[in-house]
Amino acid sequence: MIIAIDGFSSTGKSTVAKRLAAALDFIYVDTGAMYRMVALTAVRNGLVKDGVLHESALLDLLPGLTLGFSRGEHGENLAVLNGEIVEADIRSMEINRIVSRVSSIPAVRRQLVAQQQRMGLGQSLVMDGRDIGTVVFPHAELKIFMTADADIRAGRRLEELRAKGDHLVSLQEVKSNLLQRDAEDQARLDSPLLKASDARELDNSHISPDEVFQTAWNWAKEKM
Ligand code: C5P
Repeated sequence: MIIAIDGFSSTGKSTVAKRLAAALDFIYVDTGAMYRMVALTAVRNGLVKDGVLHESALLDLLPGLTLGFSRGEHGENLAVLNGEIVEADIRSMEINRIVSRVSSIPAVRRQLVAQQQRMGLGQSLVMDGRDIGTVVFPHAELKIFMTADADIRAGRRLEELRAKGDHLVSLQEVKSNLLQRDAEDQARLDSPLLKASDARELDNSHISPDEVFQTAWNWAKEKM
């Protein structure tokens, strides 16, 4: 069984996806982390100058990238790039600023989507992202599309960044980055962010994480 969770940035997709996967004993796949690892590769190799990406040089590096996940000691999901745990590095504002540009490149999407589809062969999973219900698994048994008010999303994301030690970033900067990423993700030509016609919408503005989980859990049980 495949559960696809798509939606705008910072709407709580990964929180509910992780919980659902744990409760159902399914694999959880964070596809945003995969695009973030490609963005990190661009930054580390000096391919982003003044916000401009050297696209062809990044494409040359693509075949050499191994994107994976491992479990931390408390069961947390960790992004692994060529054998190195990069979970903290991929969540910075520097990566937030360039990731939507990186994810708009068709060759990047082709490689990552193929890997995501292979992950779904023969195992049940909960996968979150932007194009899971539309492109990666158009026949997913359950599709959820998450939304939330932009101010609430920015506040939650700021708290996360602060908890990780980033005390310089402002609420305004976080909010404008979210809105900019949403706009870029919706506007790109290759598999833009959009709600699949058969997805169920879940607005996470004014309900608790427990209520979000309960709703998703009920939908999953119904489909099973
Ligand atoms: O979900 P997260 O915020 O970590 O995703 C980071 C970025 O990766 C998104 O803003 C989007 O540009 C890209 N992405 C994508 N397709 C996916 C998942 C993420 O284009 N399936």
